[in-house]
Formats: sequence, structure tokens, C-alpha cells
Amino acid sequence: MRSTGLEPVPSRTRPSNVRVCQFRHDRVLYARNEMIIQGMKRVCQRSRRDCLFRLRCVIMVSLNIQNGPLPCNAQEGGAYMLEIPEAATIAMQCKKTIAGKTIQKAVAGMSPHGLAWYTGDPSSYSQMLEGRTIRSASYFGGRMELLADELALSFNDGVNARYLEKGEKRPDKHQLLLEFEDGDALYCTVQMYGGICCFPKGSDQGFYDTVSREKPSPLSDAFDEAYFSGMLTETTQKLSAKAFLATEQRIPGLGNGCLQDILWNARVHPKRKMNTLADAELETLFHSVKRLLAEMTEKGGRDTEKDLFGKPGGYMTVMSKKNAGGYCPHCGGVIKRMAYMGGNIYVCEGCQRG
Ligand SMILES: [Zn+2]
Repeated sequence: MRSTGLEPVPSRTRPSNVRVCQFRHDRVLYARNEMIIQGMKRVCQRSRRDCLFRLRCVIMVSLNIQNGPLPCNAQEGGAYMLEIPEAATIAMQCKKTIAGKTIQKAVAGMSPHGLAWYTGDPSSYSQMLEGRTIRSASYFGGRMELLADELALSFNDGVNARYLEKGEKRPDKHQLLLEFEDGDALYCTVQMYGGICCFPKGSDQGFYDTVSREKPSPLSDAFDEAYFSGMLTETTQKLSAKAFLATEQRIPGLGNGCLQDILWNARVHPKRKMNTLADAELETLFHSVKRLLAEMTEKGGRDTEKDLFGKPGGYMTVMSKKNAGGYCPHCGGVIKRMAYMGGNIYVCEGCQRG
């Protein structure tokens, strides 16, 4: 019988001196880390409130990343993280480029990476994927997914997928390589952390997967003003604009990257509490979410991220690491970078009052 890749990690592979990793961003990583960890522990230096994942990241690290950044530093470290515009762009490019191609060879987990995780054992991916044909590509929030016959191959927001033509040099290091029968290839790398998940399509893959499929995309008509107003509850009213828009998977695929220009465009400071916004400001913020995400997607993603061919997106970011220390094109104020809630925010205090 063909493996589905969903077998639990056998308990005998867990070293006895390993405590459970508390990094709860994804239950798959949780299981994976139990298997790969070498018994060392690092704790995020942030307060619980400031940690990107709203807990002090305690992570058991494998030896090869013991000096590397912790997961909640991913965005500050400048790792590429896909959000809706990039996931949509790469899915569309995959549809045009690799749909219809049959996988001749699949290699997963070849280059050791402490924070790359897989559903099941990556060594079983060749058996699962070889001989299957890519039927389509789609995206949900910041996730991109390929359908390979009856299997789904899903990449989360920390996975970079790149296309290679026949004869092009294959990378020395990668977390997944798919060689197609016609000589072209697709490979994936994980810069900071990321999941490559192969599973029977339609099967339950947990909270992050479910919400990204079920919640309406800001690019769809279902994400209308009434839906946006409904997200504001007694509890969420008390949150800052950043926490409201870009945490807790309230809007899957809208993260700390796209957020910056959305808030600048709406003239709202990321730290401003939602309950201080007047009705007109809320309306402006809603339209800013819709318009900016649509524009970023139309232009092939942000210029701080790369597409399937390794090219930066065509949307020129204003409030991003590229322009920190420069001048706001609207008012001439300085674009400031500051740490907030486990990631950098970029603010023009002339336009965005706290
Ligand atoms: Zn300004």
C-alpha cells in the first residue's frame, strides 16, 4: 500500500532527554521537533506579550541552528515570508508553468534544516509523489498548494518555491526538489522556518490550514464591510491595529509585511487601539485592506519578496525595510523602524498618529 505520509512520528525516534517543544505555531512542527531535537533549549528574550506567537518561544534546537535566530525573529531577520499577494502570484505562475507535468523524481529533506517540517517522513515523499501529475495550483491565505493527482502538496508562508528549466543547475541545498519528466524542475527552500506538507487532498490538517481555507479572502466579495465590522468585538476592540489585522489568523495571509502599507495608506498607527478609530477611519481602513492587497496581487507581490522565477514583485513598498530612514512620499516625514509585538513596524509619525 502506498504511504499517505500521515503516520505519527514513532516514539522510539525521540531521544529520551528531550522535553516537549512549546513552539505551538504548527502541530506538525511540534511532532517533527520532538524527533530531530538534540536536547538543548533556547528561550525567546521577549516578554510573552511581545513574542510574535504570543508566548515566550521555548524551542529545543538541533545543533545546526543553535546560534540561529528563534522563530519569532523571523520577520526581523528579514526572512522572506509569503503573504496573500505572493502566494496568489506563485500559485498563478505554477498553474501556467508546471500544471500538467509529471513528477519523475522527488527528493525531500535532503539538506538538514532544524525548522523545516514535513507531514510524515520526508524520505517517503519520493514514493508518494513520483509518477504523479501536477493538476493545478491554488493558494489559501499565505499558503500555496499544488494538487498532484489525489495528493495535496502544501507550502506554508516560510517556504520559497522556485522553478528551474531543463539544464539549469540544481541548488546544492534544498528542502524539496521535484524533477519533471520533461526535464524542468521545482525546488523549495526554507530560509527561517516552514512546512512542506504532503497529504491526501481534503484531509484535516489542523487549525492553520482550516482557517486559511474557510475564512473569506480579502480579495473576495465575501470580505465586505459587514464582515470586517463583524470582526470587531468587545475583545478585539481593545487590540492595537497591528494585533487586530495581523495576528490570531483573523485574516489568514495578511501578516506583518503587507500590514505596513495598509496602515500607512489608512493613516493609522500600528499601535493605535481599534476602539479609538472613528467610523470614517474604520471605513478607510477596510478599503485600504481591500485595495492594497488587490494592488499588491495585481502587481505580482511586493518588491521585498520574490516570485517563482526569483524576481522581486512589482509592488513598490513604502513602509518597509527598503525605505527605513528615508522620507515619507506623502508628508516628507522620516520613515521610522521600531520593534513592536515581535516584529518590526515602519511608521511615518507625520501621517500615522498614535
Ligand atoms: Zn508621512
